[in-house]
Amino acid sequence: MEEIEHIRCLIIGSGPAGYTAAIYAARAGLDPVVYTGQEPGGQLMITTDVENYPGYPDGVQGPEMMEDFRKQAERFGTQVRMELISKVDLTGPVHKAWAESGAEIQADSIIIATGASAKWLGLESEQRLQNKGVSACAVCDGFFFRGQEVAVVGGGDTAAEEATYLAKMCPTVHVLVRRDEMRASKIMQQRVEKTENIKVHWNTEAIEVLGDAEVTGVQVINNKTNEKSNLPVTGFFVAIGHKPNTDLFKDWLELDETGYIISIAGTSKTKVKGVFVSGDAQDKVYRQAVTAAGTGCMAALDAERYLTEEGII
Ligand code: NAP
Repeated sequence: MEEIEHIRCLIIGSGPAGYTAAIYAARAGLDPVVYTGQEPGGQLMITTDVENYPGYPDGVQGPEMMEDFRKQAERFGTQVRMELISKVDLTGPVHKAWAESGAEIQADSIIIATGASAKWLGLESEQRLQNKGVSACAVCDGFFFRGQEVAVVGGGDTAAEEATYLAKMCPTVHVLVRRDEMRASKIMQQRVEKTENIKVHWNTEAIEVLGDAEVTGVQVINNKTNEKSNLPVTGFFVAIGHKPNTDLFKDWLELDETGYIISIAGTSKTKVKGVFVSGDAQDKVYRQAVTAAGTGCMAALDAERYLTEEGII
């Protein structure tokens, strides 16, 4: 029978949170093992220029930055496995996890860094023009559209926030709302209403993002009148929500109504001893690489303290 591997620290996920947790855990002697998941490197792998991560004065490409994170984690002995964890059992003091290959791992501590994925409309043109004008993050990419007309899809707080952010640098921001009201909080709606260069298109859905090599416009339909029209935008921001990648943990940890893992305030601790959470899996507000990295650091420090207190290390 195959021997079950026992490790001190299992890190699930390989975005900024997972790799930062790995750097700290490795330097603390926890011999961490990172399972990268389906998208090694996380959401930054589908980003081009990153200009707001401190330490890169000339900016950096998202994939290159994640390569740097991985190398730094490996330099201190982190094992990185390009595999998915498909099941966990968090009942015992020693936590169990199974890789997709079926291999069982027993871990004294687990750091969850599974992140979140942006939701997309599902249009072929939207996918084809990703990073060529189509984005799911105004804070990341808005800067590239200074002085240009852009559209934001969605009627929630994220869409409202992205639209007001973009309105500071773009002459017109078209907000496409599929109903005749926004889901966003009153205060955010008021902010949208008060911003002169935001134009809300009610009952409006995007049916195609236009452009070959880059976005040149968006074709929309008014779902009440069925009237179609084109908006001449060069940036197309999809802000219809994120889905945290936390299904794996729903039977074990406390999740909020949208699936984000709830941690004990001010810490990375979950309600299960020895299980810590970091990055976008627990953060629906900030969602930045730098904040994810910060919480990855917190999780590794919390894990190290836990292992010390329990007399495991
Ligand atoms: P959300 O509240 O779920 O809103 C998603 C929006 O996208 C809704 O208006 C929805 O329309 C629309 N939508 C969904 N699928 C669509 C589709 N296929 N086509 C067109 N429109 C579509 O998501 P969110 O705005 O990302 O916010 C998520 C959570 O984070 C919320 O609890 C929010 O309050 C919170 N948040 C807070 C802050 C803050 O406090 N500063 C900032 C951002 C987010 P319908 O309304 O018709 O369903």
